Amino acid sequence: MSIRINSNLLDKFFSLYRSSDQISLANLSEIILFTCSINQVLRFVVTSDFASQIQNTLNDTGLYFYSGNLYLSRKINGWTSISNDSMNNKDYEIETLLVMGYDDSSVKDCYEKELNGDFHNSGKYFNYPDCCITNYPLISSSEENWANTILELSGDGPYPCWSNRLATGWGGTSLSGELFPCSLHCEHANEIGKSTYNSLKELGLKRLAEEFLQQSLFPVIIHMNGKVERAEHPSMHNHNLIKFKL
Ligand SMILES: [Zn+2]
Repeated sequence: MSIRINSNLLDKFFSLYRSSDQISLANLSEIILFTCSINQVLRFVVTSDFASQIQNTLNDTGLYFYSGNLYLSRKINGWTSISNDSMNNKDYEIETLLVMGYDDSSVKDCYEKELNGDFHNSGKYFNYPDCCITNYPLISSSEENWANTILELSGDGPYPCWSNRLATGWGGTSLSGELFPCSLHCEHANEIGKSTYNSLKELGLKRLAEEFLQQSLFPVIIHMNGKVERAEHPSMHNHNLIKFKL
């Protein structure tokens, strides 16, 4: 595969990554797919100050930006409910949804659809497979039990590691970025993860590619309450150990 890479843009993203813990490793997967022109748009949910810093850092790159307030209610197990309305929930934080890309109308359309929770239509800008978009409401309605729902949808393991979103439950990264796969066996979702891995290697970021891969291959345990744990001592949990493979 030959990739088209904007290295000036990638350098600027790395400087932002170094300057703030608001860009996660999962975001980094999305950044790689965007700078390699595999994804049309890139989206962040960050503080308003950091959203301004991102725009200032990238202001000479020809990108278009759209941003606005989002209301976040953080749950356990790495799940965050997001709404464009504070509703009656007093227990929320306000953050900024920032969407960017090179085509003004795509960025605007994606931003509006994300803000309004129309993920079925915003997902196409991130190359999310239709099957995964279709199953997303089922996963998101599970809230803090999202990992158990993905597991139920996935059937028997061991599972391919390429779209292992479960790893984000223990603070690890997923090669398919923020995509929730319809099944860990989903071939389309796994192709996205392979693209990220191959792009990282082509960019000369071999150590980062291997780190992402190791995190995706780590066995996990999912507890009844939905908590995802990295299995540090796999032999102790043989019974309900969730295993991944290449
Ligand atoms: Zn799928």
